[in-house]
Amino acid sequence: MFRTARVSRLSTGAATVPFTRRRLARLALSRRSDPVRSPNPAAESRVSIPDWRQLRRIVLFTGAGLSAESGVPTYRGAGGIWCEYRYEDYACQRAFERDPVKVLDFHALRRAAVLGCAPHAGHDHIRAMQARHPGVQVITQNIDGLLQRAGVAVDAELHGSLWRLRCPVHGVRADQAAAEFVARRCPDCPPATAPWLRPDITWFEDAVDAEVFEHAAMRVDDAELFVGIGTSGAVWPAAGFAERARRRGARMIEINPEDNEASARYDERLRLPASIGLPTLFPLD
Ligand SMILES: [Zn+2]
Repeated sequence: MFRTARVSRLSTGAATVPFTRRRLARLALSRRSDPVRSPNPAAESRVSIPDWRQLRRIVLFTGAGLSAESGVPTYRGAGGIWCEYRYEDYACQRAFERDPVKVLDFHALRRAAVLGCAPHAGHDHIRAMQARHPGVQVITQNIDGLLQRAGVAVDAELHGSLWRLRCPVHGVRADQAAAEFVARRCPDCPPATAPWLRPDITWFEDAVDAEVFEHAAMRVDDAELFVGIGTSGAVWPAAGFAERARRRGARMIEINPEDNEASARYDERLRLPASIGLPTLFPLD
């Protein structure tokens, strides 16, 4: 199915994001005007929930930090991809229209980098949790597919996937075999006029996928426990989910080795990498 309902622009660090639909507008929350609970140093200590299986719904909200532990290069920050490449040349619709080969080459390189990485103990732990409890739902901002490779059922990919392409006529198609794309032009369109296939990723300046965001928002609203894992809360509107869950009364726990701008939205914080933090928080036996 070709998704057309794209209504909100991806942004980094912007407190306000243009929305055209009221439901999604609630995701765009101002960080400056919105008071949050102060971090409680006492809550920095290790947290464990031995009876987590008693909770009806648990949302795990994952970001780049989860993949960084597998060696996937991050996009932002020191050493991030956007220090080396200008997104204007490689990761926006304008760049794709200007030079699709260059943009597809770049994404094939990204796929090669991801294929050189393996899921880690944190990914495996999520799979093990889901095997024990169907109420464990994963909402991810990651496009690398590592969760899926670990056997995790992902409920929402907020920013798309490196492993899908889309044709303006035929919509989304999986392309997962190797670093290089199976097809760069749509094989279902007439060869003479077949368009370039565009990575099914939310690029800079793109609108986010409204259907995916609404689905994720429903899950967030239903969560008794919301766990932010390796996410800095810098990319909007996805970053609004933590605030949304907090306001809905979910217990809020962050797993992240470092403090960041989203940390104050959580009640408890595990300053640990996901590979250690997840087994600590959710013991299996
Ligand atoms: Zn096509």
